[in-house]
Amino acid sequence: MQLKRYIAPGRAGRQAVRAATVEPGTVNHHGQLVVRRAGRATDDLPGQSVYLLHCNRCGHEYGEAGIRVHNRKCPQCSGGTPGIAVPDAPQASLF
Ligand SMILES: [Zn+2]
Repeated sequence: MQLKRYIAPGRAGRQAVRAATVEPGTVNHHGQLVVRRAGRATDDLPGQSVYLLHCNRCGHEYGEAGIRVHNRKCPQCSGGTPGIAVPDAPQASLF
């Protein structure tokens, strides 16, 4: 006897957020704009790139790992967790 698991082609994973790559110019549903890649890796997520995000509400800029960009909230005006320091950002001295 053989058990076969049927997975409809093109269905599985379609709803999943594909956040492995993040295009500059993308705005998530919390109003956070992806500015650019920050050119460094995260401390807690090996292999993940950090992206510079810009809040469309208050203008705050901060870094976040690519896989977390899609549901990121602004740390300054929306109660998100503190961002990752981005080396080239003008506001880096604030951290
Ligand atoms: Zn903000």
